Amino acid sequence: MTASRGVDMRRQNLALVLGEVADREPLSRAQLAQRTGLTRSTVSSLVEQLLLGGFLTELGATASGPGRPANPLQLNRSGPAGLGLEVGVDHVGACVVDLAGQVRAQQTAPSQHRDREPAVALERAAALAVEVTAQAGLGVAAVTVALPGVVGHDGVLQRAPNLPRWADVAVSDQLSNLFDGLPVSVGNEADLAALAERWFGGAPADFLHVSGEIGVGGGIVLDGQLFAGPGGRAGEIGHVVVDPDGPPCSCGGRGCLEQAAGQEALLRAADVPDVAALVARGGEPRPAAAIATAGRALGVALAGAVNLLDLPAVVLGGLYARLGAPLLEAVTVELSGRVAARPVQIRLSTLGADGALRGAATAAVREQLRDPTVRVV
Ligand SMILES: [Zn+2]
Repeated sequence: MTASRGVDMRRQNLALVLGEVADREPLSRAQLAQRTGLTRSTVSSLVEQLLLGGFLTELGATASGPGRPANPLQLNRSGPAGLGLEVGVDHVGACVVDLAGQVRAQQTAPSQHRDREPAVALERAAALAVEVTAQAGLGVAAVTVALPGVVGHDGVLQRAPNLPRWADVAVSDQLSNLFDGLPVSVGNEADLAALAERWFGGAPADFLHVSGEIGVGGGIVLDGQLFAGPGGRAGEIGHVVVDPDGPPCSCGGRGCLEQAAGQEALLRAADVPDVAALVARGGEPRPAAAIATAGRALGVALAGAVNLLDLPAVVLGGLYARLGAPLLEAVTVELSGRVAARPVQIRLSTLGADGALRGAATAAVREQLRDPTVRVV
């Protein structure tokens, strides 16, 4: 066996043992050996490394039949945590999640970024992160940032239609510098919100999550995994055309879904100043008509996606979840009429406005569970 193959195998086995504990804690070393097929001595050595790295903790000994008492192992709630950050068009957010996936501290603050340089927003997010991390009282080992734009696999934000000054911004490198070299991953906010629906919101293995914000974001999950496309651009349902002769869009196109069902279009059509007013006055004639029109446009775009990808379920998040039953009904009528061949489950997200942020923090934790060698080497 070559040295590198040995390292790869050790890495795989560390992740295997840690994954078993994460799924079925608490587990004894004997149970781990049984479940993984590894020898008792290999398991003991891997567990030692995971204890040293702070990933696992040993509970008090429990008598379980004859022989030595078993010391069950569980994930260390005080171990290396994940930090999620969100930089939106008009806000920043930070969230710390422990190894077991529990939110330990979280804050969101208004912050206008549309006409500002990217560095201003990143510094604000980093400052909020310092506050939230102190509040959580945990050491952060990895960071994931949710952004409202197209993100490449190299951590570069390529473009964000509603943040005109953001083009080819090396977000991963810039934030890593602000965090003393911590590993920073970057993801699209709609993709991370979709993963949060899968992890916490009870979404099935195959679905499309569409979220109404200033833009309209989509995230596609297939077989439990995010489908981002080869360039990270999949799921841009906000720029699917619903009216070829419709109004011009920030993407350079015309008649996109965002122009019919995005936040600004909805507020304008409803003649209300903000989202709170739209939610509060949703039953009045003009707002109700605006919601129904947006719902029909959403139904048209979603029917295209559902037919193309054979998706059995759609989750409506962000602003759409807040608009509730009237929007759901309009979407359901339109979508069902266009996807007659099979039933599609359409429902509102229950995660609230912080799905992307929680998804980002959890993605940071899961990355560590997948490759604990980053810390234990
Ligand atoms: Zn567009």
